Amino acid sequence: MKGIGGEVLWVDLTEQEIDAQPIDESMVNKFLFGAGFLSKVLFDHIPADANPLSSENVLGIATGLLTGSMFPQASRHLVAALSPLTGIWGESHAAGFWGPELKLAGYDAIIFKGISPEPVYLNIRDDDVALVDANNIWGKDVFETDELLHKRHGKKCRILSIGPAGENLVRFAAIMNDRDRASARSGLGAVMGSKKIKAISVRGTGKIDVADPDNYLKEMDRFHKRMLDNPFTPERAKYGTTNLVEMMQEIGRLPSYNFRQGVFDEYEKISGQKIHDEHLVKARADWCCLQRCGRVTTVREGPYKYTGGAPEFETQSSLGSRCGNENVESVLFGHHLANKYGMDTISLGGTISWAMEAWDEGLLTEEDTEGIDLSWGNDEAIIELTEMIAHREGFGDLLAEGSAKAAEEIGRGTEKFVMAVKKQEIAGQEPRAQKSMGLAAATAARGADHLYAFPVLDEAGFDDEIRERFGEEYLPEMTDRLNPKYKGIMVKECEDYMVVVESVGLCKYGTQIPPEFYYPAVSKALQIHNGIELSEEQLKEIGERIVNINRLFNAMRGITRKDDSLPKRLTEQAAPTGPSKGQTVELDDMLEEYYEERGWDLESGLPTRETLRRLSLEEEMERTGLW
Ligand code: SF4
Repeated sequence: MKGIGGEVLWVDLTEQEIDAQPIDESMVNKFLFGAGFLSKVLFDHIPADANPLSSENVLGIATGLLTGSMFPQASRHLVAALSPLTGIWGESHAAGFWGPELKLAGYDAIIFKGISPEPVYLNIRDDDVALVDANNIWGKDVFETDELLHKRHGKKCRILSIGPAGENLVRFAAIMNDRDRASARSGLGAVMGSKKIKAISVRGTGKIDVADPDNYLKEMDRFHKRMLDNPFTPERAKYGTTNLVEMMQEIGRLPSYNFRQGVFDEYEKISGQKIHDEHLVKARADWCCLQRCGRVTTVREGPYKYTGGAPEFETQSSLGSRCGNENVESVLFGHHLANKYGMDTISLGGTISWAMEAWDEGLLTEEDTEGIDLSWGNDEAIIELTEMIAHREGFGDLLAEGSAKAAEEIGRGTEKFVMAVKKQEIAGQEPRAQKSMGLAAATAARGADHLYAFPVLDEAGFDDEIRERFGEEYLPEMTDRLNPKYKGIMVKECEDYMVVVESVGLCKYGTQIPPEFYYPAVSKALQIHNGIELSEEQLKEIGERIVNINRLFNAMRGITRKDDSLPKRLTEQAAPTGPSKGQTVELDDMLEEYYEERGWDLESGLPTRETLRRLSLEEEMERTGLW
């Protein structure tokens, strides 16, 4: 096969041994690579009763089949392990340059097993791969680690690392790469910390052979033109995702005050326009990216002075509106700190806003918080807590557990303010204003998650793409974000497609919003880059197989229909104000449609035998001992 590095590095941390194995190409037709490969490897290697922070957990990092190609935005790598935040399937993906560099060094994935007796980092320079003593960088933040390893291994190496949050086993710690790109969700930084891996430095001087060199540039040029001509591209290059604040406010989908409502009166103060006009330094692109959603921002003076990576919409929502915080400089600075210490800003803001609501209701007091005033919008408290959580200091030690575990510990009725699914905090998508997002958060394999399905086709009314992907029969209901009808069909299809996108290493900005590239483009790219012939139907089946093996992974850990739920606030309390006033999420109806579409049992929410047989997952089914 072409278009790959060719080998997988298996690293036994307990024994301090490294083994490079050729890619098992027979697996590619069944699971592709990236998300699909890790889904299978982790299913095979992690015992059902493993503790996520024990040596039994396995941490995998994999590129996609197109990562490092010239396909627009083919920049991604995926990280996966048993999540310490949720206790179930954990995955997270990031863009940047680290993934393409790994391929240039000749590797497509790294699998870490065991626990190192001492802190180490993995240094890869082409064939030269070694575990190196990291005692002298343990304790450094992400930026210091990045600088130190660049000094040691040269400016051209690419660094992936954890900060103090990962070392301190914060349950929503991120794995950072290229300084401020984050594999943020699922707390996988804590898994890396538990294994005592501080960083992975990569330098590759090889090349990636392509399958069809005669047509490669011509076809890739066509893909680039399509991306450049898409009406979304100039807007994204100008604002990144920051102007979603304005768009979400307009439809009542901007979570505010811990999801009490979907509009924020002070939204203009944290808006994309405000950041663009007063704080933007420059836009920044990842590998082969035409959309350039990354950016650098600055706060020129005052307590929140910094220059560095900019927040995306999710941080504006989580540290801004969700906490009732209108101080944009603190949102920017909070994002900077989360990158520096290595933390997921969604769970960070979700946990702080849970504490703020508990405070507002009188269930948390100064005795709990050691004197910190948790009133809505207290930007100083948000920043102070961010520091305390990363270092597990005082009240921050409790919040470092995430909102679900913190509420379990505190009790007093604070549980009802946990806005999470399967213990992972819901992202910045108010589902009462977009029903498909509610269903997607309930069903996603890694707990509350907008990206596993990323069902945004109804958000901006993509009628033509719905026609292309589903047919005319589902219109107009499917594009109506407030209508629950056909959302089960949409979310199922989007999940299958998104796991394929994560298996080939593409960015979702280009495959889902804007929905420029669909299966035919992926199929063509796999043909010219990798020399793989897979039809649209075959790719769809692979996507379905990956979602089902993720479900088996979770079923072994007790997940059933009862867990595909949402906080009662979203299903029972009508949105109190804004454009979506009066709406609730009709979850049960959508779930039934989703399970039927998936071929999953309506009562248990688990795949039926017939479904697993159709997807050639019988062997895996038998191994669960549940069927
Ligand atoms: S659109 Fe944004 S996240 Fe995606 S590859 Fe480009 S810069 Fe990276």
